Amino acid sequence: MIYFFDMNPGLLLIIAAMVIGMVARSKVNGTYRRYSAVATGRGLTGAQTARRILDSYGLANIPVEQVQGHLTDHYDPRAGALRLSQGVYSGSSVAAVGIAAHEAGHAVQDAMAYGPFKIRQRLVPVAQLGSQMLFPLILGGIFFQITSLYYIGAALYGAALLFQIVTLPVEFNASSRAVVYLEQSGSISSGELTGVRKVLNAAAMTYVAAALASLGQMVWLLLAGRRR
Ligand SMILES: [Zn+2]
Repeated sequence: MIYFFDMNPGLLLIIAAMVIGMVARSKVNGTYRRYSAVATGRGLTGAQTARRILDSYGLANIPVEQVQGHLTDHYDPRAGALRLSQGVYSGSSVAAVGIAAHEAGHAVQDAMAYGPFKIRQRLVPVAQLGSQMLFPLILGGIFFQITSLYYIGAALYGAALLFQIVTLPVEFNASSRAVVYLEQSGSISSGELTGVRKVLNAAAMTYVAAALASLGQMVWLLLAGRRR
Protein backbone atom coordinates (compact mmCIF):
# COMPACT_ATOMS: atom_id res chain seq x y z
CA MET A 1 0.00 0.00 0.00
CA ILE A 2 1.24 3.49 -0.81
CA TYR A 3 0.82 6.08 1.88
CA PHE A 4 0.08 9.47 0.41
CA PHE A 5 1.86 11.18 3.24
CA ASP A 6 4.90 8.98 2.93
CA MET A 7 7.77 11.17 4.11
CA ASN A 8 10.61 10.49 1.73
CA PRO A 9 13.30 12.66 0.06
CA GLY A 10 11.02 13.14 -2.96
CA LEU A 11 8.81 15.32 -0.78
CA LEU A 12 11.72 17.64 0.03
CA LEU A 13 12.44 18.03 -3.68
CA ILE A 14 8.78 18.83 -4.34
CA ILE A 15 8.76 21.49 -1.62
CA ALA A 16 12.07 22.97 -2.85
CA ALA A 17 10.66 23.05 -6.39
CA MET A 18 7.49 24.80 -5.22
CA VAL A 19 9.55 27.50 -3.52
CA ILE A 20 11.85 27.94 -6.55
CA GLY A 21 8.78 27.99 -8.80
CA MET A 22 7.11 30.74 -6.77
CA VAL A 23 10.27 32.85 -6.67
CA ALA A 24 10.80 32.29 -10.41
CA ARG A 25 7.26 33.27 -11.36
CA SER A 26 7.39 36.46 -9.34
CA LYS A 27 10.80 37.22 -10.90
CA VAL A 28 9.38 36.66 -14.39
CA ASN A 29 6.54 39.09 -13.70
CA GLY A 30 8.84 41.57 -11.98
CA THR A 31 11.58 41.61 -14.63
CA TYR A 32 9.00 41.67 -17.44
CA ARG A 33 7.20 44.63 -15.88
CA ARG A 34 10.48 46.41 -15.25
CA TYR A 35 12.04 45.88 -18.67
CA SER A 36 8.88 46.40 -20.70
CA ALA A 37 9.11 49.97 -19.43
CA VAL A 38 12.68 50.35 -20.76
CA ALA A 39 12.71 51.34 -24.43
CA THR A 40 15.60 50.20 -26.62
CA GLY A 41 17.72 52.85 -28.33
CA ARG A 42 17.12 51.45 -31.81
CA GLY A 43 13.40 51.15 -31.31
CA LEU A 44 12.84 47.89 -33.20
CA THR A 45 9.64 46.09 -32.18
CA GLY A 46 9.59 42.47 -31.07
CA ALA A 47 8.01 41.51 -34.40
CA GLN A 48 10.69 43.35 -36.39
CA THR A 49 13.45 41.77 -34.31
CA ALA A 50 12.05 38.26 -34.82
CA ARG A 51 11.61 38.93 -38.56
CA ARG A 52 15.25 40.01 -38.88
CA ILE A 53 16.54 36.96 -37.05
CA LEU A 54 14.40 34.59 -39.11
CA ASP A 55 15.43 36.26 -42.37
CA SER A 56 19.10 36.15 -41.41
CA TYR A 57 18.77 32.35 -41.17
CA GLY A 58 16.90 32.12 -44.49
CA LEU A 59 13.60 31.48 -42.74
CA ALA A 60 11.54 34.01 -44.69
CA ASN A 61 8.80 31.35 -44.97
CA ILE A 62 8.10 31.46 -41.22
CA PRO A 63 5.48 34.11 -40.44
CA VAL A 64 5.57 36.23 -37.29
CA GLU A 65 2.00 36.44 -36.02
CA GLN A 66 0.29 38.14 -33.12
CA VAL A 67 -1.45 35.98 -30.53
CA GLN A 68 -3.90 36.74 -27.70
CA GLY A 69 -2.86 36.78 -24.07
CA HIS A 70 -0.08 37.90 -21.77
CA LEU A 71 3.33 36.20 -22.22
CA THR A 72 1.79 33.60 -24.51
CA ASP A 73 4.73 33.90 -26.92
CA HIS A 74 5.79 30.67 -28.59
CA TYR A 75 7.09 29.05 -31.73
CA ASP A 76 4.68 26.50 -33.19
CA PRO A 77 6.76 23.84 -34.99
CA ARG A 78 3.72 22.14 -36.55
CA ALA A 79 2.37 25.31 -38.11
CA GLY A 80 5.89 26.60 -38.70
CA ALA A 81 4.90 29.98 -37.26
CA LEU A 82 6.21 32.35 -34.61
CA ARG A 83 3.46 33.76 -32.39
CA LEU A 84 4.09 36.78 -30.21
CA SER A 85 1.77 38.26 -27.59
CA GLN A 86 0.54 41.77 -28.27
CA GLY A 87 2.95 43.48 -25.88
CA VAL A 88 5.93 41.66 -27.36
CA TYR A 89 4.78 41.90 -30.98
CA SER A 90 4.36 45.65 -31.11
CA GLY A 91 6.47 46.64 -28.12
CA SER A 92 9.99 47.97 -28.59
CA SER A 93 11.11 47.53 -25.01
CA VAL A 94 14.10 45.54 -23.79
CA ALA A 95 11.71 42.80 -22.60
CA ALA A 96 9.79 42.65 -25.91
CA VAL A 97 12.94 42.45 -28.03
CA GLY A 98 14.50 39.82 -25.74
CA ILE A 99 11.44 37.56 -25.70
CA ALA A 100 10.91 37.89 -29.47
CA ALA A 101 14.57 36.98 -30.08
CA HIS A 102 14.26 33.96 -27.76
CA GLU A 103 11.20 32.65 -29.62
CA ALA A 104 12.96 33.19 -32.95
CA GLY A 105 15.77 31.11 -31.43
CA HIS A 106 13.35 28.15 -31.22
CA ALA A 107 12.50 28.49 -34.91
CA VAL A 108 16.25 28.49 -35.68
CA GLN A 109 16.70 25.36 -33.52
CA ASP A 110 13.98 23.66 -35.54
CA ALA A 111 15.50 24.70 -38.88
CA MET A 112 18.98 23.59 -37.82
CA ALA A 113 17.68 20.29 -36.39
CA TYR A 114 19.16 21.05 -32.96
CA GLY A 115 19.31 17.67 -31.17
CA PRO A 116 17.49 18.44 -27.89
CA PHE A 117 14.77 20.29 -29.83
CA LYS A 118 14.17 17.22 -32.02
CA ILE A 119 14.07 14.89 -29.00
CA ARG A 120 11.66 17.23 -27.24
CA GLN A 121 9.34 17.22 -30.27
CA ARG A 122 9.29 13.43 -30.34
CA LEU A 123 8.41 13.35 -26.64
CA VAL A 124 5.45 15.75 -26.94
CA PRO A 125 2.76 13.08 -27.60
CA VAL A 126 4.13 10.75 -24.90
CA ALA A 127 4.30 13.59 -22.37
CA GLN A 128 0.72 14.62 -23.17
CA LEU A 129 -0.53 11.05 -22.82
CA GLY A 130 1.47 10.75 -19.61
CA SER A 131 -0.08 13.81 -18.04
CA GLN A 132 -3.61 12.66 -18.94
CA MET A 133 -3.24 9.03 -17.94
CA LEU A 134 -0.97 9.44 -14.95
CA PHE A 135 -3.52 9.83 -12.17
CA PRO A 136 -6.06 7.24 -13.38
CA LEU A 137 -3.27 4.68 -13.79
CA ILE A 138 -1.46 5.35 -10.55
CA LEU A 139 -4.60 5.73 -8.46
CA GLY A 140 -5.96 2.56 -10.05
CA GLY A 141 -2.69 0.86 -9.23
CA ILE A 142 -2.78 2.04 -5.64
CA PHE A 143 -6.42 1.46 -4.77
CA PHE A 144 -7.01 -1.76 -6.64
CA GLN A 145 -3.53 -3.02 -5.89
CA ILE A 146 -2.86 -3.65 -9.59
CA THR A 147 0.91 -3.47 -9.79
CA SER A 148 1.08 -3.33 -13.59
CA LEU A 149 -1.11 -0.20 -13.68
CA TYR A 150 1.21 1.43 -11.20
CA TYR A 151 4.27 0.64 -13.29
CA ILE A 152 2.64 1.82 -16.54
CA GLY A 153 1.79 5.05 -14.75
CA ALA A 154 5.34 5.39 -13.45
CA ALA A 155 6.78 4.74 -16.95
CA LEU A 156 4.53 7.42 -18.51
CA TYR A 157 5.53 9.72 -15.73
CA GLY A 158 9.18 9.02 -16.51
CA ALA A 159 8.60 10.04 -20.14
CA ALA A 160 6.93 13.28 -19.01
CA LEU A 161 9.90 13.92 -16.72
CA LEU A 162 12.34 13.30 -19.56
CA PHE A 163 10.36 15.82 -21.62
CA GLN A 164 10.80 18.46 -18.92
CA ILE A 165 14.51 17.71 -18.54
CA VAL A 166 15.20 17.93 -22.29
CA THR A 167 13.24 21.22 -22.31
CA LEU A 168 16.06 22.79 -20.25
CA PRO A 169 18.84 22.75 -22.90
CA VAL A 170 16.24 23.80 -25.50
CA GLU A 171 15.30 26.86 -23.44
CA PHE A 172 18.83 27.84 -22.40
CA ASN A 173 20.05 27.44 -25.99
CA ALA A 174 17.24 29.61 -27.41
CA SER A 175 18.14 32.32 -24.90
CA SER A 176 21.84 32.19 -25.68
CA ARG A 177 21.06 32.35 -29.42
CA ALA A 178 18.92 35.41 -28.71
CA VAL A 179 21.66 37.16 -26.72
CA VAL A 180 24.37 36.37 -29.28
CA TYR A 181 22.22 37.63 -32.16
CA LEU A 182 21.16 40.83 -30.40
CA GLU A 183 24.78 41.54 -29.45
CA GLN A 184 26.37 40.78 -32.81
CA SER A 185 23.70 42.49 -34.90
CA GLY A 186 23.94 45.60 -32.74
CA SER A 187 20.16 45.50 -32.27
CA ILE A 188 20.56 46.71 -28.71
CA SER A 189 23.26 48.25 -26.53
CA SER A 190 25.32 46.30 -24.01
CA GLY A 191 23.44 47.95 -21.15
CA GLU A 192 20.13 46.82 -22.66
CA LEU A 193 21.55 43.34 -23.12
CA THR A 194 21.87 43.01 -19.34
CA GLY A 195 18.11 43.55 -19.09
CA VAL A 196 17.46 40.94 -21.79
CA ARG A 197 19.57 38.44 -19.86
CA LYS A 198 17.63 39.09 -16.66
CA VAL A 199 14.25 38.63 -18.36
CA LEU A 200 15.32 35.42 -20.11
CA ASN A 201 17.08 33.96 -17.05
CA ALA A 202 13.96 34.49 -14.94
CA ALA A 203 11.88 32.66 -17.54
CA ALA A 204 14.40 29.80 -17.65
CA MET A 205 14.15 29.37 -13.88
CA THR A 206 10.44 28.49 -14.20
CA TYR A 207 11.44 25.56 -16.43
CA VAL A 208 14.08 24.47 -13.93
CA ALA A 209 11.45 24.57 -11.16
CA ALA A 210 8.98 22.55 -13.24
CA ALA A 211 11.60 19.89 -14.00
CA LEU A 212 12.63 19.75 -10.35
CA ALA A 213 8.98 19.35 -9.27
CA SER A 214 8.52 16.43 -11.66
CA LEU A 215 11.76 14.87 -10.49
CA GLY A 216 10.60 15.17 -6.88
CA GLN A 217 7.24 13.57 -7.71
CA MET A 218 8.99 10.74 -9.52
CA VAL A 219 11.37 10.10 -6.60
CA TRP A 220 8.46 10.25 -4.18
CA LEU A 221 6.41 7.86 -6.28
CA LEU A 222 9.20 5.32 -6.66
CA LEU A 223 10.18 5.38 -2.98
CA ALA A 224 6.57 5.27 -1.79
CA GLY A 225 5.79 2.46 -4.23
CA ARG A 226 8.73 0.41 -2.97
CA ARG A 227 7.15 0.18 0.49
CA ARG A 228 4.20 -1.87 -0.66
ZN1 LIG B 1 11.46 29.13 -25.00
